[in-house]
Amino acid sequence: MAFIQIKQLTKHFKDALKPAVDRFELDIEQGEIITLLGPSGCGKTTTLRMIAGFEQPSSGQIIIGGKVVHDAHFSLPPEKRGIGMVFQDYALFPHLTIEKNIMFGLAKWKTKEKKERTQEILELVGLSQFADRYPHQLSGGQQQRVALARALAPRPNVVLMDEPFSNLDAGLREKMRYEVTNILRKTNTTAIIVTHDQKDAFAVSDRVVVMNEGVIQQVAAPREMYRCPKNCFVAQFLGKTNLISGTLADDLKHVYTHIGKVCLPEKTKAWLETVTLSIRPEGCRLVDGGRYCGQVENVIYSGEYQELEVKVKTDDGRYESMILYAPVEQEIEVGQIVSFDIAPELVAVVEQ
Ligand code: ADP
Ligand code: MG
Repeated sequence: MAFIQIKQLTKHFKDALKPAVDRFELDIEQGEIITLLGPSGCGKTTTLRMIAGFEQPSSGQIIIGGKVVHDAHFSLPPEKRGIGMVFQDYALFPHLTIEKNIMFGLAKWKTKEKKERTQEILELVGLSQFADRYPHQLSGGQQQRVALARALAPRPNVVLMDEPFSNLDAGLREKMRYEVTNILRKTNTTAIIVTHDQKDAFAVSDRVVVMNEGVIQQVAAPREMYRCPKNCFVAQFLGKTNLISGTLADDLKHVYTHIGKVCLPEKTKAWLETVTLSIRPEGCRLVDGGRYCGQVENVIYSGEYQELEVKVKTDDGRYESMILYAPVEQEIEVGQIVSFDIAPELVAVVEQ
């Protein structure tokens, strides 16, 4: 049996037209790191708050470690659920030292054990030398580690983190992604992390749950989700892509589109004849004598690569605008005619 089971979890706020969270269903294994990913307002925080017990669900069931913590007849209060919470703004007590901040969550522990556990957890997050400092004397990344240490100190069953990286600047953000996952892995902690950032989600999690308008769109490991997005929303939310429709060939391995025939990585299980393809820009490779060609409309330089907007002539005499990535060392000018191939492994059939 999965360690956490969430069944048909729904939250309908009073007077709202649609549920904020609609029949959310997920099983999570012990030690797994899950991210809830989706645009602002899609119901991530509400889901997390219901799991924590801060928000009453309208319906549904939550089971943690084989124990029902919420259903139609019963709701365990937050402090009894064995959950550690890390808030977006860290919510450290400004008037308490780092050591006291961590001890706060261990109020019921005996003094000696409390001291030992605090030392142990400070060591784990690499902050032993800062025990006597106050939160404002630490950097953003250090404060975040304190918040995580405080959540982990009472040995919770699960840690919930709401947008833990959003207050950090780019460089520190990458470092903290790495550090936070390291600490969670070392302690074999089950974690649910909320983020609206696809890079955060891919970097830290075993599985990603993409949500839109309160509804789960897809649950998959990062690589699988990027390679096989289930629908147009997921494909577009995970990065730039070209959505092009066409007719499936009889062999189920090719699609006839108006820019030409496109190869699929394997036989599709799509059961409709007309399908939509998601073609990733990095799968379109500029080569001499490529199968497809078009005129460069715009070049955007990003440092790591350049993004080309290319007008591809269609077989019915129109133009389809596509996005391609090209290596930065390649000199490309607006107006230039380029030819390219499409790597099948970066093509996916997606639902509308
Ligand atoms: P996210 O964390 O993905 O940005 P939220 O879970 O905060 O989204 O919000 C989901 C939806 O529920 C939004 O439309 C939001 O306006 C609504 N909502 C959140 N909290 C409340 C509340 N306490 N009362 C009414 N509506 C709320
Ligand atoms: Mg939120």
